[in-house]
Amino acid sequence: MPRTPSRRTALHGLVATGAAVIGLDPFTRSWAVGASDRPLTELPPLDGTVHTDEASLNAAADDFGHIVHRRPAAVLRPGSVRDVVAMVRFCNAHGLPCAPRGQGHATRGQAQVDGGLVIETTPLDAIGSVGPRSTTVTVGAGAKWSDVAKATSARGLTPPTFTDYLELSVGGTLSVGGLGGQTHRHGAQVDNVTELQVVTGAGEFVTCSPVRHRDLFLAVLAGLGQCGIIVGATLRLVRAPETVRHYLLPYDDLRTFLDDQRLLVREGRFAYVEGQVTADTNGDFRGYLLEAVAYGPPVGPAPDDSALLRGLRHTPSGVQTSDLAYYDFLDRLAPGIAALKEAGLWSHAHPWLNLLLPGRSAEALVTTVLDDLTPADLGSGVVLVYPLLRERLHTPLLRTPDDPVPYLLAVLRTTPPDDTVTVNRLLAANRTAYDTVHAAGGTQYPVGSIPFDRADWREHFGPTWRRLATARNTYDPRGVLVPGQGIF
Ligand SMILES: Cc1cc2nc3c(=O)[nH]c(=O)nc-3n(C[C@H](O)[C@H](O)[C@H](O)COP(=O)(O)OP(=O)(O)OC[C@H]3O[C@@H](n4cnc5c(N)ncnc54)[C@H](O)[C@@H]3O)c2cc1C
Repeated sequence: MPRTPSRRTALHGLVATGAAVIGLDPFTRSWAVGASDRPLTELPPLDGTVHTDEASLNAAADDFGHIVHRRPAAVLRPGSVRDVVAMVRFCNAHGLPCAPRGQGHATRGQAQVDGGLVIETTPLDAIGSVGPRSTTVTVGAGAKWSDVAKATSARGLTPPTFTDYLELSVGGTLSVGGLGGQTHRHGAQVDNVTELQVVTGAGEFVTCSPVRHRDLFLAVLAGLGQCGIIVGATLRLVRAPETVRHYLLPYDDLRTFLDDQRLLVREGRFAYVEGQVTADTNGDFRGYLLEAVAYGPPVGPAPDDSALLRGLRHTPSGVQTSDLAYYDFLDRLAPGIAALKEAGLWSHAHPWLNLLLPGRSAEALVTTVLDDLTPADLGSGVVLVYPLLRERLHTPLLRTPDDPVPYLLAVLRTTPPDDTVTVNRLLAANRTAYDTVHAAGGTQYPVGSIPFDRADWREHFGPTWRRLATARNTYDPRGVLVPGQGIF
């Protein structure tokens, strides 16, 4: 390990090589330094590789949002957890900021590091063995939820809660929360973790759980990467259905739609409840589609339409019902996303607005936010509205409104990335919407693009701020981790 404390010198060691790939040659065990072939004495020995080529740096300076671009000095593709430990220690020694990056689906530079190190977690994607009686599975933080779902459902088991989109990393969603249509029954993904393997900001490898290093466990789950890098997670498993019945129920009145959603999550009648708001031909967001899913055998009885839909006040004529294999239900967005990619729309900017509303004022807040929305400002995106059940949410840093049934309101905008005037206008609109919702006791779900400063974060974490700040001092005393969140 070099003794040089200066950030500039350490970076110089990386940048000056001009190398496409810097790494330990697996055959000669000597440093290969791309074109210049100059030995790098600054870096610790690694099982993986450190990259400083244009393509790697540019990729790490972008994300799904395509709004913020911060260029790192280097990108680590770890060959082992040991590499993460070694490079976080290296960053500490040289005062370099660093951040883990999973699938890069943040929308506002959260995994980016100006002049520091981006640690890709994708190589850490191992999925532990699953037997028919397993109650948990241990996976690498870089594993994608799609791969976890395939591996576990093949054995008749499943994590209980999924995000709508499966191509996100386990570490990426556990650092934010992980909400989905099953959250009202099983909590968020962070509520279904029994143990974590973490590399702290000081470069220590620690296994933590509700009974072991509990402070670290609670500071890392939904902790936005501020105290440690998740390198592995043990996830709770439940029985998986073989097939599901999927319902789309149209509503023409917001209050009725929200009330029926609330009734369903309180009763637990369905395994999954979400909903969308669509624009009518005048461009007004006044169409409501309740999405509900019943799990079939061996988890539940064969779905009975009349029992499941009893008492609901949707428009009966527009009901759509389909039976799906369980994995196809989980992966239901895949065909639509393939079409967006084909049309070039997936690479548009995503100034997303993700809010959590107190249920008591959900109707008024949804109306206010959507009154200001035009179809053009939504682009090819969607508006989601669905309820959570607060009694199922146990992770302190996942901040939700003080209400028994908060609602997620997600305005998932897309807009051409080079139209910075529009992007900036939409970011300002996000802030206005946040201010309205916050004044009514709401919070943001921090995966979107709301301009936020340090004081806002303090306010966001509220009574848990002290816990987070103490853990940060303890586990990342030099403050090297994840500056892109803008929290410390
Ligand atoms: C199309 C799409 C659909 C989505 N649907 C949902 C949904 O249904 N429900 C939901 O809850 N969210 C959803 N999200 C949001 C998503 O959960 C978050 O953006 C998540 O952080 C993305 O995971 P990632 O692997 O891409 O993380 P990245 O974008 O790579 O990282 C996000 C943040 O987490 C940190 N981080 C990444 N890995 C780790 C780690 N191993 N340890 C500690 N910190 C880490 C990064 O430094 C960064 O700050 C969706 C996002 C997209 C783009």
